[in-house]
Amino acid sequence: MPDTPDIDTPDSTAPPAPAGALETQTPYRVLARKYRPANFKDLIGQEALVRTLTNALATGRLHHAFVLTGVRGVGKTTTARIIARALNCIGPDGHGGPTPDPCGVCDNCTAIAEDRHVDVIEMDAASRTGVNDIRDLIDGVRYRPSTARKKVYIVDEVHMLSNKAFNALLKTLEEPPEHVVFIFATTEIRKVPVTVLSRCQRFDLRRVDQALLAEHFRGICAQEGVEPDADALAMIARAADGSVRDGLSLLDQAIALGDPGGDPAGAGATRIEAEAVKRMLGLADRTRVYDLFADVMAGRTAAALALLRDLYDGGADPLVVLQDLLELTHTITRLQLVPEQAGEGLPEAERVRGRDLAGNLDVATLGRTWQMLLKGIEETQRAPAPLQAAEMVLIRLCYAADLPNPADLVRQLRDAGQTAGGGGATAAGSQSAGPRATRPAASPAGPMGGTAQATAEAQPAPMPAQETEARAQDAVRPDQQPQPETFEEIVALLRDRRELRLAHHLFADVRPVRCQPGQLEINPGPHAPQDLAGRLSRLLQEITGARWIVSLSSEPGAPSLAEREAAAKRAAQVGALAHPLVQAAMETFPGARLRRIVGDAPPGAAGAPTADDDSDPRDERHEP
Ligand SMILES: [Zn+2]
Repeated sequence: MPDTPDIDTPDSTAPPAPAGALETQTPYRVLARKYRPANFKDLIGQEALVRTLTNALATGRLHHAFVLTGVRGVGKTTTARIIARALNCIGPDGHGGPTPDPCGVCDNCTAIAEDRHVDVIEMDAASRTGVNDIRDLIDGVRYRPSTARKKVYIVDEVHMLSNKAFNALLKTLEEPPEHVVFIFATTEIRKVPVTVLSRCQRFDLRRVDQALLAEHFRGICAQEGVEPDADALAMIARAADGSVRDGLSLLDQAIALGDPGGDPAGAGATRIEAEAVKRMLGLADRTRVYDLFADVMAGRTAAALALLRDLYDGGADPLVVLQDLLELTHTITRLQLVPEQAGEGLPEAERVRGRDLAGNLDVATLGRTWQMLLKGIEETQRAPAPLQAAEMVLIRLCYAADLPNPADLVRQLRDAGQTAGGGGATAAGSQSAGPRATRPAASPAGPMGGTAQATAEAQPAPMPAQETEARAQDAVRPDQQPQPETFEEIVALLRDRRELRLAHHLFADVRPVRCQPGQLEINPGPHAPQDLAGRLSRLLQEITGARWIVSLSSEPGAPSLAEREAAAKRAAQVGALAHPLVQAAMETFPGARLRRIVGDAPPGAAGAPTADDDSDPRDERHEP
């Protein structure tokens, strides 16, 4: 599809004129221009707009500013010109007034049709965005029209104007002279300031329905003496994607390629064959797209690649093949969810085949396929070698076909989490429910083998295993005088006794240098309180009933518990990301992020003050 601005000057997008037409006397005119609607009746697919404008014109209650929005090629500037004619038509006898049905023969009508009416001023904001451009335009507003009833200003692609230009325009829109009408056209209504929109009557031009487009093209072919194949017209209508102008431009090309009916003078009817249009559009055969889809969904990589290659050799654009697959994914999903509705408009063969495929696939898998194809299409558009990129997309899809569907995958991840980390979930539960004295000292294991392992490896051996066990035993006998043996146990003990500030300083601001029962050497950080050692030694003596010496050291010591916890979290994340199931999930849901790891408290940080602050550790999600 040619990517041209929406300025309804089809000459710039015109394909080479057919040889036959050049040889004859009449110069070839592109269809979009030749069949440009001259009145509301000829404007196809815009009934609501036509009805409203016709009524307004008939009752003489027309707004002084309009904004027309819609995709390119649906007829925005064409509509603007019809409005200009309707306002200014004087009828064949020269005495007519504004009419919803302009005559097309009076001076005003013909001048507007030929873009030469002095009172109908068109401006393309895409090329004239500045405030001076709009000032030039607005300067003329105060002068009365020379021959027309109303001066009509048509500003195309109005969203391209600069802010200053919009502001300048706004003043005129607030108090427009009686003899002026503004018509703005835009493909991007959201970029037009609300201050401007609020002063305009807005019309949304709809994409023209495929069937209606095909019918329109059939009518034009009849007038052109062209005999079109019905499938050929359907393909052109589909490729036009709702744009009359794009469709007519394709029809131009198809006619140029057409078989002139065996008459060398070009007098016979030109035929448009489906096969030729298919080649022209680079379209893959519909049934083969179904074959390809079936191969991909069954994970038959070799067959899928061979078929793609074959389509490519036959002239199909790899990007179009992927787009066809995307469209088919949508069709099949609809067939599954709303079978009656989705079946409409499909040829019988496709309907049967589609229902067959829909019966074998679940919506979650189709959703995943859709996402992967969308991403793949983007990649293929950017890729220097589209065929290779398309092949990679098919390979990924085939690979994903062997994966469980997303719902099963989530279930599988959850089950895996419960098997490996089940103890963790239970411990966490009792921790929040039970009294503080029974706080379990042992930390829950990670949900996945990889996580726990990565954590242990990343930790500078924070605590020998037997110490953990010993501490666990201490914790389940809370009545006895506790005798902490490690720095971690000291922190845990302080937390148990609700000495939270002190526990926090030890957790965050202190690097432990040496620790054994009755003796602790620490290297305090800048945020640690001055009297930390004294307070700690008194408190420990009070709690344990034994003498404790806490001394300050200038040795670097081990990382603080806060530092260790942060490192462990990072390591757990790395470990979890390396886990095959997580990787599968990431692959399956492009753009997913790892949000939380179940039971993420690493073994060494069991007594860390933040352990309780975390919300439900079972709340694991991989959200896109
Ligand atoms: Zn007229």
